[in-house]
Amino acid sequence: MKRIAVILVTVSLLMIGCADEKATFVTIGTGGVTGVYYPTGGAISRMINQKFDTYKIKATVESTSGSVFNVNSVISGDLEFGVAQSDRQYQAYHGLAEWADAGRQTDLRSVFAIHPESITLVAAGESGINDIAALKGKKVNLGNPGSGQLQNSKDVLAAVGITEDEISAEYVKAVEAPGLLQDERLDAFFYTVGHPNGNIKEATSGRIKVRIVPITGAGIDNLLREFPYYAVSVIPQTFYPYALNKEDTQTIGVKATFVTSRNVSEDIVYAITREVFENLEDFRTLHPAYEVLTPANMLEGLSAPIHRGALRYYREAGLIDSIDPALIIE
Ligand code: GLU
Repeated sequence: MKRIAVILVTVSLLMIGCADEKATFVTIGTGGVTGVYYPTGGAISRMINQKFDTYKIKATVESTSGSVFNVNSVISGDLEFGVAQSDRQYQAYHGLAEWADAGRQTDLRSVFAIHPESITLVAAGESGINDIAALKGKKVNLGNPGSGQLQNSKDVLAAVGITEDEISAEYVKAVEAPGLLQDERLDAFFYTVGHPNGNIKEATSGRIKVRIVPITGAGIDNLLREFPYYAVSVIPQTFYPYALNKEDTQTIGVKATFVTSRNVSEDIVYAITREVFENLEDFRTLHPAYEVLTPANMLEGLSAPIHRGALRYYREAGLIDSIDPALIIE
C-alpha cells in the first residue's frame, strides 16, 4: 500500500514537473465567495484552461477582499488579473479616493467590462429602515477595507447628509453580513454586487424578515450628476422572493470590470480576451447577471487604457471602433 502511494506521488510530481515547464500560471483576484466576482473569475479561468493546449496558460482564482485589493495586487504584481468596479478603476487610474495619497496608478490597464452591479442596501424589516435617511443611529455595515462597496456606502451616506459618526458603522466583509443581520447584530448592510447572488439570497431567506431599501431621492440625483460613473439601476423583485419587497427596488450602480497591469504579457491578455469574446454566448449562460452582455457594452465603462493584448484582439475582431480613443495609448 505504502509503495503504491509512493509511486503515485512520484508519478504526479513528475507530471506536475512536465506541465510546469511549459505552463504560465496566472491568478485572478475576485471577491467573497457569495458574490458574483468569485464565479466570474471561475468562468474566465475555465475558458482559458480549456484551451491549455493552445495557450499553455493555467488560470486560478483567488477569493479576496474585493475591488481595491484587486487593483492594488495587480499593480504590485501579486495578481495578474482582478475584477474591479468601474468607479474604482476610474479612481485608481486618476489617483482619487483610496489612491489619493499613492497618486495615479498609471500601470493599471483595463481588459473589458462585465456585468452591472447595484449598490444594494439590505435592512431588517423590524429596523424600520425604509429609505436611506432612516439609517441615522442604526448599526450598518459599510464594507470592509479593500472592498468596492466601502466608498460607495460612504458616497451614499454623504449624499443624504449623514456622517459616519451619526451611525454605528461596521466594516466587515460582505460574506459575514447576512449572518450578522439574521442574528440581529446589524440593522442593515451595503453591498455593491451583481444580481442575483448568494449573499442577498442568504440575507433575505433567513428567520427574520428583510427588505432591500431603495437608494433614491434628491441627494442621490445630485450624486448621479456629480459622479458620471454612477447610473440608476434596478434590482428585480423576482430574484429575492423571500424579501419583504413587493416591487423592484430602484438604486444606483456601476459595472464590474476586468483589469490587469501593463506589465502582464501581451500574449496572455490577448488569449484571455479572445477566449471570452469568442465564446461570449457560452459565457453569458454561466451566470444570470451576464445575460445583458454584448461585445459593445463590454467595451463601455472603462477608464484605464486598454491593455495592448486586448487591443490586439479588438483590432482583429473589428471592435476597435467601439472603443473610446482616449483608452488607446499604445
Ligand atoms: N463589488 C464588490 C467589490 O468590489 C464585490 C462584489 C462581488 O464579489 O461580486 O468589492
